[in-house]
Amino acid sequence: MKIRDVRVTPVSVPVQAPLRYSTGSDSAIHRLVVEVETDQGLVGLGECNAGVAREARLRESIPLIIGADPFNTERLRWQIGAPAEAKLFGSVNHTFAAIEFACLDIQGQVAGRPVHDLLGGRVRDHIPLIAYLFYRYANQDGTGAIDNAEAMVDFAQQVVHQYGFETVKFKAGVLPPEQEVEAILALRRTFPHHRLRVDPNAAWSVSTTLRLAHKLRDCDLEYLEDPTWGLRGMSRVNAKCPWLPLASNMAVATSEDLAPMACLDAVDVLLVDPHFYGGLRQARYVGAALELLNVDVALHSQGELGISMAAQLHLAACLPTLTHAADAHYHHLTDDIIEGGKLAHIRGGMQVPTGPGLGVKLDRDKLMKYHELARKIQTVAQTSILGDASAVEHLPILPRW
Ligand SMILES: [Mg+2]
Repeated sequence: MKIRDVRVTPVSVPVQAPLRYSTGSDSAIHRLVVEVETDQGLVGLGECNAGVAREARLRESIPLIIGADPFNTERLRWQIGAPAEAKLFGSVNHTFAAIEFACLDIQGQVAGRPVHDLLGGRVRDHIPLIAYLFYRYANQDGTGAIDNAEAMVDFAQQVVHQYGFETVKFKAGVLPPEQEVEAILALRRTFPHHRLRVDPNAAWSVSTTLRLAHKLRDCDLEYLEDPTWGLRGMSRVNAKCPWLPLASNMAVATSEDLAPMACLDAVDVLLVDPHFYGGLRQARYVGAALELLNVDVALHSQGELGISMAAQLHLAACLPTLTHAADAHYHHLTDDIIEGGKLAHIRGGMQVPTGPGLGVKLDRDKLMKYHELARKIQTVAQTSILGDASAVEHLPILPRW
């Protein structure tokens, strides 16, 4: 079997209202949808974060992918996703991941088995997900804004009630820390038995983090995620705040970061992401390394549509020591590009797909609809920071406070 065609389609699917984080905001989830077609007519699906550089990277890889055996992803990894190139030219892991998802999708279709069976088999059928709480700008119709503790709690109650989430994640690093502490304390009062995690996306200095860690001492946080920038900063916070588990997907973002993470004892919980780590197999290996290091395994979300969401569920199904609910922006999406519309939430999470391959198919009408939108939005806002009207005044300096 050989790959005979690769198609790359940028899409933008709007979220309910623009989501804010420490370095910008997004009014839509921008992704590249990858279709890999074999000479036997099978089509595998992949997806990764959008952007001109990643799209170009995928397109310039196509001559190396055409003619390749979709079962030999290791050879492809060294051709188009080599670790040295990933280190020197950042987005390679993401683009290779999209190709690898598609190849695994093809392998699963050929074998008649779900992708998680190709990764070692699933140890769970249901993946708990989070209520992902962001400050938000208003929509064009003037609704949907979240800019204070009361609105944050209202939104949290609504999604927890609607979906049954048992873990709440507060995206901090947007407003001055004192206002955010007020929101965190209000969330804890409202949800005394939920797991509560906080992610300021490195917006706080070490000294600010230390001060806030004392204020949050009785909050029983599940963890504090990347409060400050870099391994050294995280290591200093971890040494000074033993009562607060620290998590990361920024200070630690590639396989190369694992050794210094361990040496510096910088992180208690690592958020694995198959896009950041160069595919599902590499992410599975990271999970195994974390087992050996006795660092907790969690799952990161950068904003996935149905293809990547399915990939995340397959990965989560076969990470044995995943003890935290998986991150997902998914409940903020207004639509999806897969057949049947959005994946269903069940009991505060999602069921692991059990059909052959990734278990999702493209809705071509939706693909074209959101491709049109991507072409409109991304000519104005290629990066998230340009989507944030207030960002004109605000440089994404980290730490900010
Ligand atoms: Mg994070």
